Amino acid sequence: MELCKNKIDVHIHAMENELPVKDMWEAPLPETVIENYKKSGIEKGILQALVSPESRRFIMTTETVMHIKDKYPESFSFAIGIDPRMFGNNEKADFSKIFEFYKQRGAVSVGEMTANLYFDDPLYDNLLAQCAEFDLPVTIHVSPKVGLAYGVVDEEDLFRLEKMLKKYPKLKVIGHSWDFWNYIYKSREIVKSEEGRLFELFGKYENLYADFSAGSGFTAIKKDEANGFKFLNTFSDRVMFGTDCSFRAEDGVSPLSEWIDEKYVNGAISKELYFKFCRENAVKLFKL
Ligand SMILES: [Zn+2]
Repeated sequence: MELCKNKIDVHIHAMENELPVKDMWEAPLPETVIENYKKSGIEKGILQALVSPESRRFIMTTETVMHIKDKYPESFSFAIGIDPRMFGNNEKADFSKIFEFYKQRGAVSVGEMTANLYFDDPLYDNLLAQCAEFDLPVTIHVSPKVGLAYGVVDEEDLFRLEKMLKKYPKLKVIGHSWDFWNYIYKSREIVKSEEGRLFELFGKYENLYADFSAGSGFTAIKKDEANGFKFLNTFSDRVMFGTDCSFRAEDGVSPLSEWIDEKYVNGAISKELYFKFCRENAVKLFKL
């Protein structure tokens, strides 16, 4: 049984230099990411920028991630970092020059979107319309409240996300974070396996995708594997492997990679689903 040795990591961060003050989480150096990738059969990662001040003390610009990709083109692609408040905090801001330029330089998407505004705010609306026009998929970190955490705000049942998916059918949104994955179940306190709101949204909107990176997607699926596998099987064309820098401290292995390999080997998931999840869906969506 052949394991997938060229997985695509749809969500990774890396920084060119370590932070001078070690007071918070920092992204690994690209060389460390590449070392870790070898241990988990990952060929390439899509570097996400982090440009909104809500997310971290440091800013990871599009130029930074593009520079890392230029240095290691075999190991990385990159996303454009945009905050909808850029270009004058203006709901008519024109991002076309930026999108054209970075697309020519190899950008495959926009993200990670962390600006703490409502997802249907006029500023986001303007940006999302242009992402749809330029065929740039958008990775969003969902947050439940303004002022509580970083991320696109959608307080209850992801109705704002639904509104934008409906308004821009050509816009491809990749959902990520705890407050997105919570909706795979009906209740945050999982008492029994019941389909949550994500089943409904994925069923209705073909332009919604799922990023299983970090602890969030992985934990959501592991909490109740019957429900998790049902989700993977039902939406097998839109589920994607990712790490978001989640590598085990002791050995640098990605726990999600190890888990999905095991599930394939012991027959819990089909060969078709395994390869779609690990690689093929990302290749198709990001035109890698
Ligand atoms: Zn991230």
